Amino acid sequence: SGKFFVGGNWKSNGTKESVKKLVQDLNFAQIPSDIDVIVAPTYVHLPYVVENIKDRFQVSAQNCWVGKAGAYTGEIAPEQLKDLDVPWVILGHSERRSLLKESNEFVGDKTANALAHGLKVIACIGETLEQRESGQMYNVLEGQLSGIADRIADWDNVVVAYEPVWAIGTGKVATPDQAQEVHAFIRKWLADKVSPNVSSAIRIIYGGSVNDKNAAELAGKEDVDGFLVGGASLQAQSFATICNANA
Ligand code: 13P
Repeated sequence: SGKFFVGGNWKSNGTKESVKKLVQDLNFAQIPSDIDVIVAPTYVHLPYVVENIKDRFQVSAQNCWVGKAGAYTGEIAPEQLKDLDVPWVILGHSERRSLLKESNEFVGDKTANALAHGLKVIACIGETLEQRESGQMYNVLEGQLSGIADRIADWDNVVVAYEPVWAIGTGKVATPDQAQEVHAFIRKWLADKVSPNVSSAIRIIYGGSVNDKNAAELAGKEDVDGFLVGGASLQAQSFATICNANA
């Protein structure tokens, strides 16, 4: 449902030189015209990427502050992203949930704050291997979804990224059936707890070891509306191939 959506999460990678090269390569890449393509560099590379990447790409931050700009040392507020012409932000990535101890409630508060300031949000959820194997997967996903659903009313500017933690950076991609099963669960949960309209309109994208080889089969699944790509998004050719996976 909705336009196919491919995001490249560059995480804490890149130097001035490597980002310049990646932007140049992406500007030459063959990307279908009818999909949304987002790139998410580090904060420090955002101004360069906004100014130098073709308009065909939209730019995203990887996090933002939970409130307004002010005395919050080290934080970047949504209005500062808007001021830089950055329309998107990734929130709730598992690396922040686990390493920075971000709770479901905090991610929900940040989502509400970002939306209130006019940003669009890629909201990430996903279970660990231990949670999956101990039968906690759906509880965990519901908790993560509720943290957001309890705090926002309008889902028009939200994309949900399902990123199983065990698949991130491991080369252990979810099978197309595993991805479809969870995406269908998320869509049903949204239909029941939010609304049928939101459920059918929202994009639910998959992340975790997506590459140029496995993307097409995943994209063939009914409820897979796109991807959030880590490692493979640092290579323009691989990223472009993934952008063409829905053809
Ligand atoms: P990898 O594609 O490197 O597994 O990372 C996925 C991810 O975390 C995207 O946000």
